[in-house]
This record gives sequence, C-alpha cells and structure tokens, in this order.
Amino acid sequence: MLEELALLIRLQEIDIELADIEAEKGDLPEQIEKLESEIAEYQPQVEAIENDLKTISGNRIEQSHIIDMAREQLKKSQSVIFNVKTTREYDAISTEIEQSKQKIAEGERLQLESLVNEEDLKRSLDELKDRLNKLHDELVERRSEMKERLDSTQEDELSFLHEREKIVHHLKKPVYDHYERTRKIRDGFGIAHVTGSACGYCYSKIPPQRLSEIKRMDDIILCEVCGCFLVYSPD
Ligand SMILES: [Zn+2]
Repeated sequence: MLEELALLIRLQEIDIELADIEAEKGDLPEQIEKLESEIAEYQPQVEAIENDLKTISGNRIEQSHIIDMAREQLKKSQSVIFNVKTTREYDAISTEIEQSKQKIAEGERLQLESLVNEEDLKRSLDELKDRLNKLHDELVERRSEMKERLDSTQEDELSFLHEREKIVHHLKKPVYDHYERTRKIRDGFGIAHVTGSACGYCYSKIPPQRLSEIKRMDDIILCEVCGCFLVYSPD
C-alpha cells in the first residue's frame, strides 16, 4: 500500500476520535464563553452605579454643609433684627433672613432628591449584584463540569493530537491541504472507503477500470463527485 494512503487512513481515524471527544464536551465551551461575556458586560454597569453613588453622597455632604452655614446665618440675623435702629438696616437683615431660609429650603429639597436617587441606584445595584452572583455560580458549575469531562478524555486527546502531528509532518502539503479542505465541507470526512463499487461518502458509482486502480492502493485517487480520497479495504 502507498505509505501516504496508510497515513491518510490513520489520520481520518484520529480525526473521528477527536471529533467524538469534542462532541463529548457538548456545548459546554459555548455556555462558558457566553457566561463570561455576560459577566464582563455587567461589570462596567456595577462600577458606573458605584461611582454615581459616591458622587451623590459627596454632594449631600457638601449640601448639608451649605444648609448648616445658612442656619447659622439665619440665627445670627434673627438675633440682631430687633436691635436694628433704622428701617434700612431692618430691610437688609430681613432680606438676609429670607435668603437664608431659601438656601435651607433649597438644600433640603436637593437632599431629599438625592436620597430618592440613592435609593433607586442602590436597588439597581443590588439587582445587578444578585444577577452577577448567579452568573458567577453558574460559571463555576459549568467550569467544573467541563474539567470533569476534560480530565476523562484529556490523555486520549493529547496522544491523538501528538500522533496527528507526526502524520501531518509526513504527508505532502498539497495532499494534507486537500484532505483538510474536503473534511471541512464533508462533515469531517476527507477519506471515503469504497463499498461495493461506490464512494463510501457520496455513494456515486465508480467505473470498473477506476475501481481496480483504487483496489491496488498504490496511487492517490479522488472521488470525482465529492473529492474524498478513495481507499479500499477488503473488509
Ligand atoms: Zn464521493
């Protein structure tokens, strides 16, 4: 048998084994990837809310400082208003009192508003964190499932990959490239075993002359319909 054909046959066997191992993992890799990207999307949202909360609490401290000062001013004005001697002084202090009262009222309004805002944001943050925790738990679970499955097949997978590498190294590049191209478009098959007098992949009939050439297994022959390398094994 042509050495290259024997190598191709073994390569196909290995690729079928590797595909089985991949199938064994199921859609776990996709699930894990999806969870990871979802978590990555939530992270900046959490940070943005935490920043807003910091700003709000900073503003409130500033606002309460303004209110305190206004109250002090109000007290001062109220204590001197009855001691004034002229109407002009009285008017000036009355205006001061009015301004202080306005400042206090406005400050209190802003504080109340920021409290409401803060509550809303805290609620959103709690919900987000809740969701994130659930995603994290799910991710941990999926990863451990994945690890379990990998542990059971990893040794086989490595040895197949190692053997595959050696085979690929021995194959001529155009032959390997054709095998890979065909495998990609033929559900993982680059080799077709001839059954009866038909291609084992696409079942197209092979003329007798060609069939006897294939049976000799001393040349590389492709199926004219599906492009698979045709090989023949008596069993
Ligand atoms: Zn075919």
